[in-house]
Amino acid sequence: MTGRVIDGVRLAATIREDVAARAAALAKKGIKPGLAVILVGQDPASQVYVRNKVAACEKAGLHSVLEQYPADMTQDALLSRIETLNVDPHIHGILVQLPLPKHIDSHRVIETIAAQKDVDGFHISNAGLLMTGTPLFRPCTPYGVMKMLESEQVVLRGAVAVIVGASNIVGKPMAMLLQAAGATVTICNSKTRDLAWHTRHADIVVVATGKPGMVTGDMIKPGAIVIDVGINRSADGKLCGDVDYASVKEVAGAITPVPGGVGPMTIAMLLVNTLEAAERAQLPSTSR
Ligand code: NDP
Repeated sequence: MTGRVIDGVRLAATIREDVAARAAALAKKGIKPGLAVILVGQDPASQVYVRNKVAACEKAGLHSVLEQYPADMTQDALLSRIETLNVDPHIHGILVQLPLPKHIDSHRVIETIAAQKDVDGFHISNAGLLMTGTPLFRPCTPYGVMKMLESEQVVLRGAVAVIVGASNIVGKPMAMLLQAAGATVTICNSKTRDLAWHTRHADIVVVATGKPGMVTGDMIKPGAIVIDVGINRSADGKLCGDVDYASVKEVAGAITPVPGGVGPMTIAMLLVNTLEAAERAQLPSTSR
């Protein structure tokens, strides 16, 4: 069996077109959804990510500002900048690119972003809303994965889903979304005994560990859907995922490639979250 390739580039383009149409409708009312992206330091990968996010905003007709600060920016200065953006009526979404330099407490930074502008969905209020089944913002990467599963018409109700990786930004919210859709979910981490036992029982495997090629074909049930969230750079400089694509593709029913899979979806869902933040900001405060 050779798995179908789930094309994140194409699906993301469709979603971005929809965002552009909705943004154009808002523009007729004099509203332009605005995203502020803050980057502290010179991390090369982060620089690429923020540039891609800002470019995608502009293409979809959203307003975006990229604020770049030196690595020695103080935490107080960053918090104060966020507080200003929190009350800026032209900014509906605020994203602080992670990781932050070590002297800055990223939890404190995330908690300072107003929950209704937290388009990454990392604020503790948004994590709580997601956990209790009434999400305001779904974190962009797991949200993008859900859209991919939906586009493939994967039946989630009753499905066995295994998530490899338990971070706050990918693994845990992914589990919440799959669980809410009716899947039976296991979250594995670096201490999991016999990871392959878990993955071999799964109808859906989502991998987000940052460990290149760690999930191999022999760990996958024939026909399973495999979603590779990982973005790593191999020794020869090429992008690769956390899944060993060649061996897994031979066994899986469908698989996401890296690049061209989850990455573009993450950006598309950021646009959706920013647009929806702007739409919500127009509602009377009682109905938000
Ligand atoms: P983190 O480092 O925050 O978390 C990694 C998780 O993987 C941890 O829970 C860790 O376990 C677990 N893990 C590590 N090794 C193993 C192992 N051998 N077996 C099982 N679990 C393991 O990473 P992120 O979630 O932030 O990112 C993961 C990957 O996804 C990275 O490659 C990142 O670049 C990529 N990414 C891609 C995005 C996209 O848009 N496509 C967006 C965000 C991230 P433990 O908890 O025990 O430490």
